[in-house]
Amino acid sequence: MASKNPHFRQLISDSTYTEIVSNQILKQVEAHQAAYPEQKIYMMGFGDTSQPLPATVVKALVDAASRLGHPETYTGYEDITGNPELRRAICLNYYQNKLGITLDPTEVFVSDGAQSVAVNLQELLAEDNIVALQNPAYPSFVEGTLLAGRTQYLNLHCHEQNNFVPEIPEQKVDLIYLCFPNNPTGAVATREQLKAFVDYARTNQALIIFDAVYSPFITTPNIPRSIYEIEGATECAIEIGSFSKMANFTGLRVGWCTVPHSLTINNTVPGELNQMWKIRHSIKFWGTANVAQQGAIAALSEEGQQECQEVVNYYLKNAQLLRAGLEAAGLKCFGGIDNPFIWLKAPQGMQSWQFFEKLMQETGIVGIPGCLFGSSGEGYLRLSTLIRREKIEEAVNSCSQ
Ligand code: PLP
Repeated sequence: MASKNPHFRQLISDSTYTEIVSNQILKQVEAHQAAYPEQKIYMMGFGDTSQPLPATVVKALVDAASRLGHPETYTGYEDITGNPELRRAICLNYYQNKLGITLDPTEVFVSDGAQSVAVNLQELLAEDNIVALQNPAYPSFVEGTLLAGRTQYLNLHCHEQNNFVPEIPEQKVDLIYLCFPNNPTGAVATREQLKAFVDYARTNQALIIFDAVYSPFITTPNIPRSIYEIEGATECAIEIGSFSKMANFTGLRVGWCTVPHSLTINNTVPGELNQMWKIRHSIKFWGTANVAQQGAIAALSEEGQQECQEVVNYYLKNAQLLRAGLEAAGLKCFGGIDNPFIWLKAPQGMQSWQFFEKLMQETGIVGIPGCLFGSSGEGYLRLSTLIRREKIEEAVNSCSQ
């Protein structure tokens, strides 16, 4: 007799983030549009990209697809941990040349984006391990933790008083998710703040999963772009990266995680976690599409990186324009400087959902109520500026009316 996985129980009864977005947010938008067909709507809820792929990437994709169409150049399965050239490019062009961090390609695992990895990495840990999560947090960190049966997670609260960077846990935890630059708050962590977490993890033999998906958006000087800029981090942290936002790969799906050989936790020796993740790959994941990986290699070429920088600059300019417009309208904003998200404070102590409705009614701007990211997100709204510039400009105009 088959019986269902009990870990889904909580997710189904609480309803997932994706379901709330489609059932409540989209329905409210539809109802509003039906009632006020003249009003323009600016969808800033979703973190999807709007700009085309960089030209260098497009060329590499077309060439790679065409090679697959000829018997002489056809290739099938690749190295399951990722195309070796791509892993070398991530080490050299991303980590070494940009950040001065030395890693070995065997420490890098290419994936179909950051999403699956962020959740699946929990399989490295024992079932009874305690997880600490930022609150508010990117929803899959929370939902993935519940799906793994870890219902007793610790909240690391992020609020205005701590600039949305949490203090290290007061109690002993085994796994800490950190995401900087942060989705949803837009906050970045300083070197000292990250060092405190690295020191905590080393002292307590805890593991840090560091989501650095938005690190290419950092413009503030001296803000670390990788956890490995902190001494000792390769002994306690796995870092996740993605081509999704820096190169408009949300549809192509290429990301990576770095599992350093020197990483250890309680009952492991150096190299063991890297080997375990490789074993997991060979059982559950046989690699990212070869064509998409060629696109990622092109994105990390010299020309590709310049084009990616233009992509990032475009979204950052969006964020700057929107933030200025919202502030001119008297609203308090956080973020939007080192990442494409603006964390908008609801005025006059309003709740997230109330503010969601008010902003949509008055300006046509649709965000995500902050409470959907955790209890400490109550009273805020998250806006994504990964949309087209014209929309940002129109939305800014509608704020000033
Ligand atoms: N991590 C964070 C913080 C994100 O915001 C996102 C996407 O929005 C992801 C991971 C997933 O990215 P990917 O498209 O690489 O799966």
